[in-house]
Amino acid sequence: MLLRDGGVIAVGHDADLDELRGIGQNCDAFLIDLEGRERARSGIANLRVQFNRVHGFYIEVSAGQADKVPADYQRRQTLKNAERFITPELKAFEDKALSAQDRALAREKQLFEQLIDALLTYLPTLGALARALAGLDALACLAERATTLGWCRPRFVTQPCIDITQGRHPVVQARLAETGGMGQGADFIANDCRLDARNRMLVITGPNMGGKSTYMRQVALIVLLASMGSFVPAADCTLGPIDAIHTRIGAADDLVNAQSTFMLEMTEAAAIVHSATEHSLVLMDEIGRGTSTFDGLALAGAIASQLHDKNRAFTLFATHYFELTEFPVKHDRAINLHVSAVESGHDIVFLHAIEPGPASRSYGVQVARLAGMPAGLLRQARATLEALEAKARSGDLQVDLFAAPSVQAQAVEPSAVELALAAIDPDALTAREALEALYRLKSLQAQDKPNL
Ligand code: ADP
Repeated sequence: MLLRDGGVIAVGHDADLDELRGIGQNCDAFLIDLEGRERARSGIANLRVQFNRVHGFYIEVSAGQADKVPADYQRRQTLKNAERFITPELKAFEDKALSAQDRALAREKQLFEQLIDALLTYLPTLGALARALAGLDALACLAERATTLGWCRPRFVTQPCIDITQGRHPVVQARLAETGGMGQGADFIANDCRLDARNRMLVITGPNMGGKSTYMRQVALIVLLASMGSFVPAADCTLGPIDAIHTRIGAADDLVNAQSTFMLEMTEAAAIVHSATEHSLVLMDEIGRGTSTFDGLALAGAIASQLHDKNRAFTLFATHYFELTEFPVKHDRAINLHVSAVESGHDIVFLHAIEPGPASRSYGVQVARLAGMPAGLLRQARATLEALEAKARSGDLQVDLFAAPSVQAQAVEPSAVELALAAIDPDALTAREALEALYRLKSLQAQDKPNL
């Protein structure tokens, strides 16, 4: 990879270079021959001829044998257990070999520079050729995948929709084909996705490991592939205009920037509610997970309302908060979907099919059992769960998550405009910055306006 290490110019291109390299390559034969001869001459069976970058070539014998060496051996280096020598013959060879190597490298460098000079005139053509080949490579790859994997050609229409029949997640599907799944059959279950102007939000519930993330990502991947001109892993696909894909999907802590997982989650969600439009596709995977149950649930409900009422984006909203299955009841553009699973005794089998309606329960304990939790621990969890569920049924927890805040609550909470205003120090602004600040405040005010 480096010019200074040589090996850049092919054999046969330049006779001088080949000759110099030949001297270096004949080294091995000479050294083996020399080693044989020196062993015979000295009678030392473990004598070895070696090379290192610092000391060059030398003949090494173990310390115990050092006094047996012939008179023309000159000591080069003394080690703890060995002595190293050089002979006039080896020294002469070393001079020739090392200088041949140096000269070969110099010759290569010279040839390489000549080549670069020659290529310079063709630079624009070569650049265009490289770009064309790269494009062709990408397109050929997409075409090959489309044929091999039976993908379909997406249709683009002007009315808003994401209409996917029998969509698949290309990576999970390939992985399942390789590994045979988790002993539950190797087939990927294809699923539909239907979003249009009337149905803009899918609230997806179901057990962990049920396939919620896979489903959401496959919809995004299909939209992305279609947008870049590829066929898509589905039986049929029709898409309206999509201006962006926004995702909030479980991410690792960003410790470098000193953001906690929850802070990162909220930062990403905030960016989405500020920028998603009615032509955007939004994936929200288990928002609110990073904080306490009530906090998380309250935020998840408020974020869902915002996306539904204000952004009006196409939204796939996967949640472990069961309470959010109430959301579509009060929001007419939202629909409940769930990933199916069947229970037999204490066990659970995931079917990975997306079906209409909310999940009947969350199956956390069953999933924990699959993961190998001890039986005693599971019994305790099950008992606690029953007690908690009984308490919830008795009506202790009846809150309307999606109710608009009271006027009083709105007054207490400073608006984004008020917060931005408070942060401005008029004395520290140039005229231009002041004007920019004014524009920023106007745009914040537009975002803050209640949806009438
Ligand atoms: P969740 O988000 O509900 O916890 P995932 O989407 O992470 O679940 O899916 C868990 C696993 O289930 C995946 O890694 C995959 O092996 C399998 N899986 C998910 N969806 C499907 C599907 N449609 N067909 C077959 N297997 C699936």
